[in-house]
Amino acid sequence: MPDASLDPVPESLTCAVCGDGVADTGYLPADEGDGVYHSHPDDAVCGTCGFNEVGMMGCAPELDEVTDAGTGDALLYVTRTDAGFEVASVKR
Ligand SMILES: [Zn+2]
Repeated sequence: MPDASLDPVPESLTCAVCGDGVADTGYLPADEGDGVYHSHPDDAVCGTCGFNEVGMMGCAPELDEVTDAGTGDALLYVTRTDAGFEVASVKR
């Protein structure tokens, strides 16, 4: 269980690849600081695109595959909850 939380918690995310809302899981670049993650929702990618369009086929994407501008210093794998999103895992 990663010891990390989002601040602020995005209420919704839109995939930068397909333009659909992220309905279940997705990838979210973020800056780490003071034990929380400041996300970059404009660069969010849905789980399907992350696997099939961004990462190597069938593999989860890396941070530099999601953002080519060098945005953020961690890639969060987030899951949708009733209140927004929570961090399921973190890749640096
Ligand atoms: Zn997508």
